[in-house]
Amino acid sequence: MFSHGTGPTVPRHRRNPRRAYDEEGREVTPATIANVQENGARGIIARCVCGHEALLPFTGMHPDWYVPDIALRLRCAACGGKRIETVPDWSDGWRSGRWGLET
Ligand SMILES: [Zn+2]
Repeated sequence: MFSHGTGPTVPRHRRNPRRAYDEEGREVTPATIANVQENGARGIIARCVCGHEALLPFTGMHPDWYVPDIALRLRCAACGGKRIETVPDWSDGWRSGRWGLET
């Protein structure tokens, strides 16, 4: 999927690490909680640089929040760090066998 950005071109050193940019350097509006829920996401996966990963349910999340910005509200339960990335969980765990032996 290709997204076109909006607004002015952002120089590389001023870019937000939680945003995507198109090839012109314009910021691409991130998906919101409402967007990814409509598209079938089961929750939000939070991944820390230390390797700790957690699946967060949508409970308590505002539909207007940008998915990558949820990371700003989190602190890693394993290392206490805040270098966390949040992405939608598109897996259909139970049916795809994610919790079983199939991969
Ligand atoms: Zn961590």
